[in-house]
Amino acid sequence: MMQSLWNATDAAQWRGDLGQRVYTSRLLGQDASLVMHGGGNTSVKTTLSNIFGEAQEVLYVKGSGWDLATIEPAGFAPVQMHHLLRLATLATLSDTAMAHELRLATLDPAAPAPSVEAILHAILPYKFVDHTHADAVVTITNTPDGLATVRRVYGDAVVYIPYIMPGFELARYCATAFPQQRTPRTIGMVLLNHGIFSFGDTAREAYERMIDLVSRAEEFLQQRGAWQINLPAAPPPARPLRHEIAALRQAVSAVAGFPLLLHSQRDPLARGFARHPQVGTLAAQGPLTPDHIIRTKRLPLVGRDVQAYATAYTDYFHTHAASVPQPLTMLDPAPRVILDPELGMCAIGRRATEVAIVSDIYRHTIESILRASLLEAWQALPPAELFRVEYWELEQAKLKRQGTPPPFAGEVALVTGAASGIGRAAAEALLAQGAAVVGLDIDAQISDTFSRPDWLGVVCDVTDAAALNAALEQAVSRFGGLDMLVLNAGIFPQSQRIAEIDSDLWRQVQQVNLDANVVLLREAHALLKLAPRGGRVVVIGSRNVPAPGRGAAAYSASKAALTQLARIAALEWGSDNIRVNTVHPDAVFDTGIWSDAVLQSRAASYGMSVEQYKRRNVLQQEVSSRAVGALVAALCGDLFAHTTGAQIPIDGGNERVI
Ligand code: ZN
Repeated sequence: MMQSLWNATDAAQWRGDLGQRVYTSRLLGQDASLVMHGGGNTSVKTTLSNIFGEAQEVLYVKGSGWDLATIEPAGFAPVQMHHLLRLATLATLSDTAMAHELRLATLDPAAPAPSVEAILHAILPYKFVDHTHADAVVTITNTPDGLATVRRVYGDAVVYIPYIMPGFELARYCATAFPQQRTPRTIGMVLLNHGIFSFGDTAREAYERMIDLVSRAEEFLQQRGAWQINLPAAPPPARPLRHEIAALRQAVSAVAGFPLLLHSQRDPLARGFARHPQVGTLAAQGPLTPDHIIRTKRLPLVGRDVQAYATAYTDYFHTHAASVPQPLTMLDPAPRVILDPELGMCAIGRRATEVAIVSDIYRHTIESILRASLLEAWQALPPAELFRVEYWELEQAKLKRQGTPPPFAGEVALVTGAASGIGRAAAEALLAQGAAVVGLDIDAQISDTFSRPDWLGVVCDVTDAAALNAALEQAVSRFGGLDMLVLNAGIFPQSQRIAEIDSDLWRQVQQVNLDANVVLLREAHALLKLAPRGGRVVVIGSRNVPAPGRGAAAYSASKAALTQLARIAALEWGSDNIRVNTVHPDAVFDTGIWSDAVLQSRAASYGMSVEQYKRRNVLQQEVSSRAVGALVAALCGDLFAHTTGAQIPIDGGNERVI
């Protein structure tokens, strides 16, 4: 249940009206059942003094692009009140013209664009105004008898507004309807199928009224036996699912026209809803609030018929686009949520951050759908209303402004030995170019080598075939497939002449440097074949392959065999649109295998000092891991789209190779 998080000591740190506004906005933002991912908005009416010392009435309102949980004073735009109030008297105004006017009336050129709900905040005659999309309130109003039911919860404590498209139309309607319905007992306003407002003379009063109002809705759901969700338990399937997931992601990417990430979630809520006997009808209604449509699309795909979903989406677009005068650009017809009895809930997006947002939103949606069903029946807005939000002129304008995505957006790379050295550098280069990366390493620090949503570190001994398969299963469940594979994990033993070779050490080197890669290539092949833009493998070979050195028999032989393996993979997999290339680095000393002992022993075997040894190449330079990582990423990119079976030295130039 809701609890006020107001803390007098914390609140006292925040000075003035704007400071208080920031403090309670953050309190609202901390609760995902009130607002999620940029949803909701808040404002305060106050006075500013201009350069002439004249007082100006302004509305500080949340700027677009800011999230309430982390908002700063700079996240609020100061907009002239008299301008906002005059705009509210216009008979009509397009939302594009409204956005233009809001910009014009903002008194700080550095401020963000004011929220599209700024005029609505302005016409509400209270100093502090809080607006959330509280789950409990939208749950109650997304039912056939929603208005009557929510009246039972709030009586005359709030004003009730039917669903109206957010933007100028909603502000215009409220400017007339609010004063008519308002009573001395009014502390808030419910927007059906959208959310709730609360008002106060102080930040604390508005915030605590929000908590009070939402608590009443939650308690009402409890009293009606519509709070506790019971989903039948079903243990997840025991068989590996990665090939089915990767095939589904390939189909989704094909209809989208670009690669997408897909996160298959099989916990009790996700899988329980996907297996719900009525999931077909429950999920076929629409989103929790209209603004979610931008993230989740109107409907999830139930089952795996991606083509049918795309056809239905295209039909929906053409049906509703016909009633809009201006030409519209159709969004891609791929689903963003898939519900499947075996794969659970799949959240889809171009970047891992988007996938996480889709996932959060739909998990809340599942809870609300089930609660509304227990209360009465789940009923979202009709498709025509939702279409208006999905194809809102302001959203279409955003589409036109968006830049090109990074080269590997929507793609997944797996890098072995990624906790340090070349593996880590390759992972970093791939992340920087937009890929989601799964890093494997025997070193436990792999889990937090990077801390970001597009990184998954898995502790794995690559010589353990079962562990490798489990890692692939984990990778594909998290990101949906495998597009790029970087075979990097390797060991470099101390120098040993052939006459003294230790058989156990020899075998250990072959197991890590060669055998593990045979298994990984074999297991990864079917996944790489499903890569939307074609699979890519980059093998980290060694300068030792073309130019071996005394005392390095085990290492050189293992890398030579690995190179030969890569050449054969290039031959066998070309028709599957998988490219396989090898890089031969040398003079890379910032990696894990170059301990002082190894360095000294290698230098000694060439009769050189360590310093001479480090720069014994044509260009007389050390090569950094970073440079090798950049080459690995380049080999996965378009520059090398027509190259397979190549061996590229990155060694400062070696006379024996040249
Ligand atoms: Zn809203």
